[in-house]
Amino acid sequence: MKTQRFKILYLGRSEHEKYKLVRTDDLTESIKSPRFAVLIQHPDKGNILIDTGDSRNMKEDHPANIDKLYPTKEFIPLDRALWSEDMRVDDIDQIIITHLHYDHVGGLQEFIGKKASKNVIVPEPEARAVFFQTIADPSNLGHAYIPKLFAGLDGVTYSPVKDMFEYAEGITLFVQDAHTAGVIGVILRLEGGGSAIFTSDTLYTRDSFYKAMPPAGELFNSEDEFQNQLNIIKKIKDDTDGVVFFGHDFDQAKELETRGWISDISQIRGL
Ligand SMILES: [Zn+2]
Repeated sequence: MKTQRFKILYLGRSEHEKYKLVRTDDLTESIKSPRFAVLIQHPDKGNILIDTGDSRNMKEDHPANIDKLYPTKEFIPLDRALWSEDMRVDDIDQIIITHLHYDHVGGLQEFIGKKASKNVIVPEPEARAVFFQTIADPSNLGHAYIPKLFAGLDGVTYSPVKDMFEYAEGITLFVQDAHTAGVIGVILRLEGGGSAIFTSDTLYTRDSFYKAMPPAGELFNSEDEFQNQLNIIKKIKDDTDGVVFFGHDFDQAKELETRGWISDISQIRGL
């Protein structure tokens, strides 16, 4: 396998009640919830970005209820995170949006007029549902979808994907059926014979996975849906000797940030 490497780009955090991410009896306990993107440098596909964080214009873009539910405490724009790598948004070749919630797709508008605005990869089942609802009746979309962040962006085109497939050498994408109608998971094969598995928001934190604790927030459909997806991720972890990265685990995201560029599985064992 040709060598690929990745690193996390930390993009800030919200803070809110813990139960929205992980089931708990204490309804006042709070949790830090990171936003991040993952930057991959791949020998054939170039610079791939998974997710884009929130909108830099969140004051205008967010409906008021979003900031009540998930108050933003820190925001790092994507371009600043890329500068620290000596890169600009123009250098990104491909964008993968794991799902269309505002905290993952909000930075996509930064790519208008850039090469990465073409064929943005999105999960087909979710895109089908959400784009239809955006036209049919946006008031029924659900509060984490903000249409102006993904619909009608000048020149942005989408490439919907489904099921599980090898997107490039060493990169497998799989569309999960939990959290929304579709969430893209990503498996990166690394040197040393293991993988990094990014679940996005089907599993929010370590507790979601290791304690099998589903969220109790508004974005949770059913216990079965959660357990099914948990079992799928467990099997992928076993089959690929993987390390699992969760959608909103603050400690894990910050620890991964300290590790810098990752190309070998030994760099992330134990995370
Ligand atoms: Zn999220």
